[in-house]
Amino acid sequence: MIEKDVNDDVTHHHLTHFYGMVIMHRITILIVRFSITLATLLGYHNLFLQHRTGRHPERPARLTAIIETLKHENLWSHLKSVTGDDIDPDPWILTNHSQEYVNRLQQACQNQLPFIDSPDSAICPDSYRVAQKAVAVTLDACDIIIGQQAQNGFCALRPPGHHAEYDRSLGFCLFNNVAIAGRYLQQKHNIKKILIFDSDVHHGNGTQHSFERDNTVFYCSLHQHPATLYPGTGWPQEVGEGPGRGFTLNLPLEPGAGDDECLEMFRVNFLPVAREFNPDFVLISAGFDGHRKDPLSQLNMSDIAYDEMTKDMITLAQNCCQGRLLTLLEGGYHLGVLGHCVSNHIKLLMNYTIA
Ligand SMILES: [Zn+2]
Repeated sequence: MIEKDVNDDVTHHHLTHFYGMVIMHRITILIVRFSITLATLLGYHNLFLQHRTGRHPERPARLTAIIETLKHENLWSHLKSVTGDDIDPDPWILTNHSQEYVNRLQQACQNQLPFIDSPDSAICPDSYRVAQKAVAVTLDACDIIIGQQAQNGFCALRPPGHHAEYDRSLGFCLFNNVAIAGRYLQQKHNIKKILIFDSDVHHGNGTQHSFERDNTVFYCSLHQHPATLYPGTGWPQEVGEGPGRGFTLNLPLEPGAGDDECLEMFRVNFLPVAREFNPDFVLISAGFDGHRKDPLSQLNMSDIAYDEMTKDMITLAQNCCQGRLLTLLEGGYHLGVLGHCVSNHIKLLMNYTIA
């Protein structure tokens, strides 16, 4: 009997220890999962304010409005700051732009020219290094998400990128940040299939042209109809070429279209195809210039459409690629709308409920 009691005690002690270890282990796993779920990054650098464009809708005050809103709503301190300081963007810029264009942009800034290629693309002497920094922040953000130090993120970038072509600037854009991100994820991180959803009200001609012969990058743009808005491309019949045929999707909306038309187009024509593509990483080229208050377009969207599309994109990323999603800022020229819509977007990425 005595022997049995001793054995029971020993067994009991071992079991307690064992269950204790299991519980500790489970708590550790929960903590790790919890922190991964919550971490959302914010890519931003004060240098972005040094791209001085004069009297121009794409101006430093856009980012100031975003940052002030994030601070006012107490989100700023909860975001993982990404500044691109240890990244050399130059080799990666050349994965999407010609050396001739890069040199020409650098020279134009050094020579203090007021714009490059067209008056739309205003520049100042600092613009070259600001554009480099926008790419560096983007690539840093990709590294952080791939390294699981953040689940997802938003980069408040200037200058924007989606109109920039291989060998020229267009429509306020100098380097195509989202296209370079796609190249980087594939070449540096061996990510196979990339989805780029472009919600800017203008067609992302530069991004489309970068990947239109590529079946590993699915590019979809939702925008105001090209017959009625800059840059005049993004017709439904532009569907990709050669091996990339079917991997470009253009969804134009008529002027005056509101949340219902936008969400129907998005949910009926885009989401099922995106799910079938089953991406390994989701990039959003985010413009908020389709909002009814925006001065540069004639769509009639409200915050609701942007919030709903964001929710659906997060779900898509969760279902396809463990939630890996990075949003890069493109347009949005009404400062109040921009601050509010970006803050809502970030809250959703952080898994907050929007009232
Ligand atoms: Zn735009």
